[in-house]
Amino acid sequence: MIPLSAPEISGRELEYVTECLKTGWVSSVGEFVNRFERDIERFTGSAHAVACVNGTSGLHVSLVALGVEPGDEILLPSLTFIAPANAVRYAGAVPVFIDVEPRYWQIDPDGVREFLRRCRVKQGCLINPDTGRRVRGIIPVHVLGHPVAMDSIVSLAREYGLFVLEDATESLGAEYMGRHTGTIGDVGVFSFNGNKIITCGGGGMVVTGDALLAERVRYLTTQAKDAGDEYIHREVGYNYRLTNVQAAIGVAQLERLKEFIEKKSQIRARYDEAFADMPDLRAQEIAPQAWSNHWLYTIRVGGSVGPRDLMRALENEGVQSRPLWQPLHRSPAHAFGPHADCPVADDLFHTALSLPSSPGLSQLDQDIVIAAVRKFIHG
Ligand SMILES: *Cc1c(COP(=O)(O)O)cnc(C)c1O
Repeated sequence: MIPLSAPEISGRELEYVTECLKTGWVSSVGEFVNRFERDIERFTGSAHAVACVNGTSGLHVSLVALGVEPGDEILLPSLTFIAPANAVRYAGAVPVFIDVEPRYWQIDPDGVREFLRRCRVKQGCLINPDTGRRVRGIIPVHVLGHPVAMDSIVSLAREYGLFVLEDATESLGAEYMGRHTGTIGDVGVFSFNGNKIITCGGGGMVVTGDALLAERVRYLTTQAKDAGDEYIHREVGYNYRLTNVQAAIGVAQLERLKEFIEKKSQIRARYDEAFADMPDLRAQEIAPQAWSNHWLYTIRVGGSVGPRDLMRALENEGVQSRPLWQPLHRSPAHAFGPHADCPVADDLFHTALSLPSSPGLSQLDQDIVIAAVRKFIHG
């Protein structure tokens, strides 16, 4: 089977992990955790990075550190992997789903603006008139590694006094107007899950330009233990700290990131060229100010063919592919909340399919994918 997105472990991972095992530094204290944080700071140009067990925990702890309280409303796109909506719920808050725009498939700033315009200010708080709840922040998700229009999102957030928490879990290495995704809002979160562009097996990182916020995130991820030898805790924290072994893998992976992005951009170019004569297939576009990391190459399948039919046909040819996530305003797990209509997210759910995009994908394997797609579409 040609996988959708397999990790590429062929650098210094084994060497660094062996170093952890030989020295006994296997747990959540160790040189690789610090080194991974410093390397991410240097790579993204962020002032502060704090490692955590995965991207979801990073989103959760960021919301707590930003002061989100039960009943607060947080805006996020309807079309995304479910994790950011779950994190909002862990904090007791309520996700409000906004549609995505049809070209780049990211949260639509016009949809955000429309929602915020209807809100009212009461005693210094922004209130959703439909629910009476406070609106606190926006989580733009850089879906499939393509950046959100962050200039519009940040200026709306400033105008209405909201925080911006970037879910950059799919977009490490992507840039918008020359700035790394994750470093443009107040806080950003990366993931190093097995199918992301680089992996630790599992892992995450919170980045921010705010030293106090970084300190608070670090405190909350380590059981909120006060400094010193005694076990004194003033509040409830979390055991969200990354281990040294995972960080060792992350350090080795990060050394390869530029190469992986370059490889993924070549994969994209080859797919684009191969499908150029097929009007029924249209890839996610790339915005002029955007630099994508090309995490997962995804096409919209037009005509009478559905992406799930194509997925099954590809499976028979030994090719793994995946439709996009069920829009969250339709998800039984989250559909209770307020939301606008999301026709674009609905349409993408019914038309889009991601194709194999691993950095280790050979030209031969890519040719097999291309031939299988062409065979099915052309019959
Ligand atoms: C992968 C992912 C996450 C969560 O990351 P984990 O490390 O798996 O917890 C969050 N948001 C989005 C959009 C993701 O794709």
